[in-house]
Amino acid sequence: MISSTMPRRATKRGDQRTQLRGDCDVLICGASFAGLAVARELAGTGADVLVVDRYEIGERQTSACAMPTDWLHAMGLQESLRQTFGELVIHSPHATARYRLPWTFSTFDYRALCALLAEQGSFEFETAKVDGRTGGAVHTDRGEIRAPLIVDALGWRRVLGDGENIQPPDALLSRGLEVHPRGSGDELEIWIDRAYVPAGYGWSFPAGEELRIGVGSFDPRFHVREPTVRLATDLAADAVRYQGNWIPHALRDATEDGVFFAGDSAGHCLPLTAEGIRTALYFGLACGRELRAVIEGNQTRAQALARYHAFSADHATAFAWMLRVQRLIPRVAPRLLGRSLRAMEHQRFLDWSFGHYLNIAHPGFVAGWSGGRRARIPVAAA
Ligand SMILES: Cc1cc2nc3c(=O)[nH]c(=O)nc-3n(C[C@H](O)[C@H](O)[C@H](O)COP(=O)(O)OP(=O)(O)OC[C@H]3O[C@@H](n4cnc5c(N)ncnc54)[C@H](O)[C@@H]3O)c2cc1C
Repeated sequence: MISSTMPRRATKRGDQRTQLRGDCDVLICGASFAGLAVARELAGTGADVLVVDRYEIGERQTSACAMPTDWLHAMGLQESLRQTFGELVIHSPHATARYRLPWTFSTFDYRALCALLAEQGSFEFETAKVDGRTGGAVHTDRGEIRAPLIVDALGWRRVLGDGENIQPPDALLSRGLEVHPRGSGDELEIWIDRAYVPAGYGWSFPAGEELRIGVGSFDPRFHVREPTVRLATDLAADAVRYQGNWIPHALRDATEDGVFFAGDSAGHCLPLTAEGIRTALYFGLACGRELRAVIEGNQTRAQALARYHAFSADHATAFAWMLRVQRLIPRVAPRLLGRSLRAMEHQRFLDWSFGHYLNIAHPGFVAGWSGGRRARIPVAAA
């Protein structure tokens, strides 16, 4: 079991890549936000839980690592916090708007957060590349693993899906790239500026002694490397330590052919903002609670699949709205955009809109608040 002794060794290579044992009660594929959140909810059940990832836990940062501070606290992950921001600064060609948020955002250290989250679970961990699935058997480069409960938390590729994997640039994916130069700053900044990206935005998120500067494009055909370098150069920062990935911007079925999908594999990243960490945690917790109820004999696997599917689908309206706004903003003329961004500085509007935005995946869910969702999720015993 991994709890409190999370390995920090490098990914297994060569002779170390022995065959894995063949079965377990729960197989969680992917050990980032979604996968580790699922595992957390299974702690103390006594189930034989195996988590696999092609890299060691926390080895490869997958994002700019900013999320609502309350989520870090609710999950007991505050030790990973790097910097907190009460204001969001949005630059556009004709205006800069400053939004005083009704709640704060924080940047955090990916490796530290993953270590803390992993410590909350009790599971075995192995590095293995997951290649696909036939029924209840998952194929990895270290052999086949069978489990009655299988979770795909592998990110946008949805490796364990039944049909064809969605492939960029044709799929509903955005693309994001960032650099991590040394430096510091006090502001969480966003650029909505066609000079950088026709549909999307640039960002600079300070995180203690480093900046995370990047560009995301909602159009997967638009290449973001050159504008990312240009934004960093404009901010007098070095374009070093690259990190990038595809980001889904459409909700997908959260279950398929007996498999549970959580995080980017289910399209749980929010359109428009590309905020996918808290939602990966949120749906990961929801998935874990359903699995826990199965393990404890309180429901069948089929019931868990149905309930988790319904819970995820219950968020479709919010995701659809965000996608509509994502498609609208690039069409707004720059002058009108500047005026609109300034008009939204009114505190009552900010409290209302950002309040609704937080409610899509509210930190209260960690303690069991369902936010009035139809599919009620049992809270794991403390
Ligand atoms: C440049 C960029 C910046 C971003 N910034 C933010 C941000 O600041 N805030 C925010 O909320 N969201 C941000 N996002 C979105 C966010 O990163 C994702 O939504 C989030 O990481 C989803 O979490 P996840 O656990 O579902 O998947 P991931 O974090 O992608 O984790 C998937 C895991 O699966 C493993 N894996 C993948 N394929 C295989 C395989 N075949 N075999 C074995 N293991 C495999 C990976 O190693 C990884 O550990 C950003 C995205 C990008 C690209």
